[in-house]
Amino acid sequence: MFDAVIIGAGAAGMSCALVLGSGLQKPFAKGKKVALIAHQKSSHLQTALFNNVLGLAPGTTGESILENGKTQLKTLYPAIEQIENEKVLEVSKSNNHFTITTNKNTYTSKIVVVAVGYTNLFTIEGLNKYIEAHPRAATQKNRIWLKNTDHLVEENLYVAGTLAGWRSQFAIASGSGAHVATDILTLWNKGKHIKVHDKIDEA
Ligand SMILES: Cc1cc2nc3c(=O)[nH]c(=O)nc-3n(C[C@H](O)[C@H](O)[C@H](O)COP(=O)(O)OP(=O)(O)OC[C@H]3O[C@@H](n4cnc5c(N)ncnc54)[C@H](O)[C@@H]3O)c2cc1C
Repeated sequence: MFDAVIIGAGAAGMSCALVLGSGLQKPFAKGKKVALIAHQKSSHLQTALFNNVLGLAPGTTGESILENGKTQLKTLYPAIEQIENEKVLEVSKSNNHFTITTNKNTYTSKIVVVAVGYTNLFTIEGLNKYIEAHPRAATQKNRIWLKNTDHLVEENLYVAGTLAGWRSQFAIASGSGAHVATDILTLWNKGKHIKVHDKIDEA
């Protein structure tokens, strides 16, 4: 049983995983089991080129972010399990936990974060009831969101990134994933607000 599973390893999913990974070093989160279902084949990052994102060198490709993001996560926060080459087909809830069925395996988790992007090609059974037309995208594009309040779809079920209803900009999607991570850390810290900052050691 995982404590949290993040579905989708694009901008929002990987940002969520990095912040959660850094938070696992806090005493209240010690021993929590977290996984990222690191499917990337249908990420909008595949074809993106970034010149307008603070902190990214102009000309950075989305493709390089997909690869480097997984390496960063593995190197810095190896406690986060990365599940590669699996696509989620269904998410269902019973007895206060979620069952996540992929094309290869079944996992259980207390918390699920859905970060699979906002296209209407969404095919995860069990989540269809939350789908509505995206509130911040051109109507003719048929984008969708999972109806939520502050990223929460229902108890312990979060959505992040463009699928949460945000406009499609890298920084917004990443920020949304980071936001969800701090919400989960705050939940694990019994409601006391949490952020995770590193700082330069003073000699
Ligand atoms: C061509 C292009 C150019 C862009 N240029 C810019 C730019 O210049 N500046 C800027 O700020 N933004 C730009 N963007 C937008 C930016 O890339 C997106 O806003 C951002 O990637 C959205 O992040 P996300 O996490 O919501 O979705 P994505 O990054 O698309 O990630 C979704 C993830 O979910 C995975 N997934 C999907 N279905 C499943 C499933 N069933 N099971 C498991 N995993 C699944 C996908 O494989 C993917 O990894 C551009 C986008 C495109 C397409």
